[in-house]
Amino acid sequence: MTVSLADIFAARLTLRGQADATPFVPSPYMTARAGHDVLMKLETCQPIGAFKLRGAVNAVMNLPEGVAGVTCCSTGNHGRGVAYAAARRGIRAVICMSELVPQAKVDGIRALGAEVCIIGRSQDDALAQSLRLVAAEGLVEISPFDDPKVIAGQGTIGLEMIEARPDLSMALVPLSGGGLAAGVAVAVKAVNPAVQVIGITMDRGAAMHASIAAGHPVEVEEVPSLADSLGGGIGMDNRLSFPLCRDHLDGTILVTEEDIRDAMQVLFYEDRMVAEGASVVGLAAILSGKVRPQGPVGTIITGRNLDMGMFHRIMAGEDIDLGDRTLKGKRYGA
Ligand SMILES: *Cc1c(COP(=O)(O)O)cnc(C)c1O
Repeated sequence: MTVSLADIFAARLTLRGQADATPFVPSPYMTARAGHDVLMKLETCQPIGAFKLRGAVNAVMNLPEGVAGVTCCSTGNHGRGVAYAAARRGIRAVICMSELVPQAKVDGIRALGAEVCIIGRSQDDALAQSLRLVAAEGLVEISPFDDPKVIAGQGTIGLEMIEARPDLSMALVPLSGGGLAAGVAVAVKAVNPAVQVIGITMDRGAAMHASIAAGHPVEVEEVPSLADSLGGGIGMDNRLSFPLCRDHLDGTILVTEEDIRDAMQVLFYEDRMVAEGASVVGLAAILSGKVRPQGPVGTIITGRNLDMGMFHRIMAGEDIDLGDRTLKGKRYGA
């Protein structure tokens, strides 16, 4: 089982009218800083405010006739995508999430008519609950990242990027379970293998990064982060996103909470855009000097579903409580 360019083209047809192409726009500020075009794929413009709609719609719409309903574990955005797609198809959805998921994301899912189950302190706890529902109620589980239809759906982003900018030299992809990075890498490299595809994640609980380094899936501790959407493991029995990321990514890079905060501020104060921490890790990698572009570079602004109170505090330069530590505040430009 794998995911090919043909699967990604098929996904594009399934997504038509439900999760359409998003803008891919230059950031003048980032371009000036990097000395090369820096382009942002605005998945914040999807109807659920995040790219995960693509994979969720592709998975839900391809389920057989008569399916009882769907369930998933989620850090928030996948659940929102599955809830949206299930409502479109008129089937039941039960979304399982840990206590670490911000309330704004939980509210967004309930508003779409899905049932919500909050359980435990980690994605693993949420997944276990989701699998119990499969056994007890005959629901179909849709993995947030380790599912061929989900990966193909996310891969349509890579296709749009390389079609819009065939001269792209590098794609910086926010990385957690690796469904997005796997799909984007398959699409982009099928068209032009010379494009560097780099996975970017936070240095707190970087499961795919640690797994690639170890050569097999490893568990990491899940801790609070500004990039809450990047939390969670990759599954010890990962079948698809791990081998695809291991074989297709040109590297993985870690950014700090400070890097993420600075990038969120740049995106807001310079480009006037609101995005969640997970979305800006590509920009953070450039701003912190961890990535030095050698040509046009594209990154994916993956979502905007963050708590606005938290956003306000970050923009105002206030200290942020991350549970086990405090991120010192910094005023933009100061
Ligand atoms: C899920 C998510 C990611 C990471 O996607 P993976 O496929 O799990 O690697 C990045 N950004 C946002 C906003 C997300 O919701």
